[in-house]
Amino acid sequence: MQLKTIFNRVTEYKPFVVEHVEMVEHESQLRIEIAMRARGNGEPVCSGCGERCPGYDTQPTARRFEFVPLWMIPVVLIYRMRRVECPTCGVKVERVPWAEGKNRLTTAYQWFLAGWAKRMSWTDVATSFHVSWDHVFDSVKHAVSWGLSHRNLDGIRSIGIDEVQWKRGHKYQTLVYQIDEGQKRLLWLGPDRTAKTLLRFFRFLGKDRSLQLQFICSDMWQAYLKVIAKKASQAIHVLDRFHVMQKMNRAIDKVRAAEVKQLKADGYEPILKGCRWLLLKRPENQSEKQLAKLRDILQYNLKSVRSHLMREDFQRFWTYSSAGWAGRFLDGWCTRAMRSRIEPMQAMAQTLRNKRDLILNWFRADGALSSGVVEGFNNKLKLTTRKSYGFRTQNAYETTLYHNLGDLPVPKLTHSFF
Ligand SMILES: [Zn+2]
Repeated sequence: MQLKTIFNRVTEYKPFVVEHVEMVEHESQLRIEIAMRARGNGEPVCSGCGERCPGYDTQPTARRFEFVPLWMIPVVLIYRMRRVECPTCGVKVERVPWAEGKNRLTTAYQWFLAGWAKRMSWTDVATSFHVSWDHVFDSVKHAVSWGLSHRNLDGIRSIGIDEVQWKRGHKYQTLVYQIDEGQKRLLWLGPDRTAKTLLRFFRFLGKDRSLQLQFICSDMWQAYLKVIAKKASQAIHVLDRFHVMQKMNRAIDKVRAAEVKQLKADGYEPILKGCRWLLLKRPENQSEKQLAKLRDILQYNLKSVRSHLMREDFQRFWTYSSAGWAGRFLDGWCTRAMRSRIEPMQAMAQTLRNKRDLILNWFRADGALSSGVVEGFNNKLKLTTRKSYGFRTQNAYETTLYHNLGDLPVPKLTHSFF
């Protein structure tokens, strides 16, 4: 069996044919070169408009296109491009079926690299297949732009809006997920978390689709709340479990941080460091002075401990099945929190009171939204960005997130290289 036979089986580059296949060895490096040629009667296709046109001339030097390696031996297609004389576009280079534009990689190879880039970091892909990082980036970009322009946006009923911090600073990204039972994917992302950002999403989605939304999950970010009320007022807007608990965790963190700071200011820092021992030591073995300090620390720590217990108590809220009972529990919890004299927890209770209706919508959505979806995406996103390097630009960041979380379609090729 010849290599040509396999090549013809896995590709469909009509009306081009393989002229010959050659194995080249250069300084003990192997390479397979496949010379392509146009069938005699085939008129070239204009790369500008895609129409068949009369030929103009043939380039003196051949172009080389990298194909999917075979047994880790690089495979290169070699072809002398023709130019056409197009009535619409003028003299233009022809279009070939195996590559797009000026790309040095064949489309098949780009899909191959993009497939691997879902399973490992771009750097790993580049190293494994001896291509540059830019080639991997271009391949993923190509896959993403194809996927975005071919995806179906019909039938979106539920969306979740999340925001993440980026670049360790205070830069935010707004992400919108589809969270329907049958389809969960990243739909859209944009820099910042302003009203403008979310307005851009709704503009992207279009008026008709926005009006078909039934459920929208988001956190309590005021800018989002306003836009959602304006652009999809028919949808039930839910402040979801993940975001409510995330906010509560931040409140608890604040309590702890303030306590540590207070201890430091009061000169208890050394004792805070040895606090574990102080707490472990039996009181009868401690001096009067130590006991006094222990009492102080218990006093301070109590706030952190109490906040923690309040959060644990709040978890019961999510176990209710009716909005009525859940509401009653929520009110009771808020009253207790307001009496706690722990400022961040009081602020939390105040927020919950202000947003009572939106939070109770969780129960009105009646199981249509699974609690873990937005959280799941949030975790997957962190994982994706953690294992990847070089995402300093918005473009690369967007590309990798769409690639990994967008559930984008891929074209049906003659042969699946990946
Ligand atoms: Zn043309």
